[in-house]
Amino acid sequence: MLPLPPGSVSNGEFLPAAPSARDRDVYAATLRVSDDAARRAGIDRRQFLQSAGGVAAALVVFNLAACSSGPGGARVRLPGGSYRVPAPSDVAACEQALADPSGFVFDVHTHHVIPSDPWVQNAPETVQLVLGMLPPDCMAADPLECVNRASYLHDVFLASDTTVALLSDVPNSGPGDAPIPFSDAVGTQNQVRELGGGGATRLLLHNVIAPNFGDLDARLDDMTVQALTGHLAGFKVYTAWGPNGQGYSLEDPSIGLPVIQRAHDDGARVFTAHKGLPLMRFDVAHNGPEDIVAVSRQFRDMNFVIFHGAWDPNHQEGPYDPNATLGIDTLLRSLDAHRVPPDDNVWVDLGTVWRQLLSDPDQAAHALGKLLTRVGQHRVLWGTDAVWYGSPQPQLMAFRAFQISAEYQERFGYPALSDELKANILGLNAARLFKLDPNATRCALAADPLTNAQAQAAHLRAEGALPSAWRPHGPTTRRELLRWLRSPTTHWTPL
Ligand SMILES: [Zn+2]
Repeated sequence: MLPLPPGSVSNGEFLPAAPSARDRDVYAATLRVSDDAARRAGIDRRQFLQSAGGVAAALVVFNLAACSSGPGGARVRLPGGSYRVPAPSDVAACEQALADPSGFVFDVHTHHVIPSDPWVQNAPETVQLVLGMLPPDCMAADPLECVNRASYLHDVFLASDTTVALLSDVPNSGPGDAPIPFSDAVGTQNQVRELGGGGATRLLLHNVIAPNFGDLDARLDDMTVQALTGHLAGFKVYTAWGPNGQGYSLEDPSIGLPVIQRAHDDGARVFTAHKGLPLMRFDVAHNGPEDIVAVSRQFRDMNFVIFHGAWDPNHQEGPYDPNATLGIDTLLRSLDAHRVPPDDNVWVDLGTVWRQLLSDPDQAAHALGKLLTRVGQHRVLWGTDAVWYGSPQPQLMAFRAFQISAEYQERFGYPALSDELKANILGLNAARLFKLDPNATRCALAADPLTNAQAQAAHLRAEGALPSAWRPHGPTTRRELLRWLRSPTTHWTPL
């Protein structure tokens, strides 16, 4: 199983999109490069693919595949983005270049589920949504176990360089159909704190509110009750989701504005909305970023985070097109229309955007370049949507190696992805947003048991003594392999 399967991981609805011919070619080429590199490194392919060398092999092939994909195939053109990696066969150099356990990584967009909670019976469509975003080689008897609390703690805090995370949730109307009801999210936060020896904050929470279900005043009072617990770092809404497939606008004075006003009055200074990336039963008329950009002008002392940056898998990202009807361009147009300057109180996260675009470096360069120039270099936040797709570590490694070409910097005004800019995106921007002191946090966490376990796991992985690096759920028996082949979420030809 490749650490970074190319192409679409999920179609954003129920099941992953089928791999394209290009994806199959990239997959086959990655195996060839990996075979060769593993032979040179003197280790078997399975072990190689679980190392930083395996990630580097995938990135090398993404570079090559992007070169030959000029428009119409007429001529070869250089892609606007590429990966700078050591030779994949030099596993130690790849580890050195791509992993950085001492950096400050704040992942603002993570998930897990509680498989024993009532949502599994009450919300079958949500179950389908979650099943469509599992790690592709999930083999647990109950697949939801691959995205449960234990998998989350392992994949995010042990098998990756993540320092601090924010736990999110998917569309729900309350504890009866939420994959992580707020009380369980608090349970996860407490468990992380215990594992860390009770020290500094590693896990922040926001809570999904659906004000369009039931009585609005009751929903608003729920917000106040949750804010009073002291466990909340903000609220999150899905404006495109609601009863009978009907969404709402944040500008609507009968529903949207009262919600923001209440969040404001409860002291919340971070308000998040999912925009773009259409999910199940989404009301696409309410999935655009215009309303949240508009209300950012009315609540200047709050911060508005647009999850997914309005990115949409049904739209190819290129140079800014003010007439585009989907994707990141709709966000840029809204910022212009409402005269929001760069680095103001509108923020974006890269959850799923980076994971889906990283195998297409040209689109990835446009997406990142546009967000960084227009939303602002201090307003783009690292998010991975882990533990959907498995551990965030391969995504992190790819990001560290990514560059925007000099040509695209000149033609489109995109910034160079310097180490300083990457450090801002990977953690320092979010630290400012959530008022965490990154140095104090790192110091407080430096000696805690979780950091020690994280370091030990990284050490064992580097020595090849810990085979399950970021794919802890792969098939290990013939029976599991057969079940994996029959699984509806399978999209790769088995090795
Ligand atoms: Zn998400």
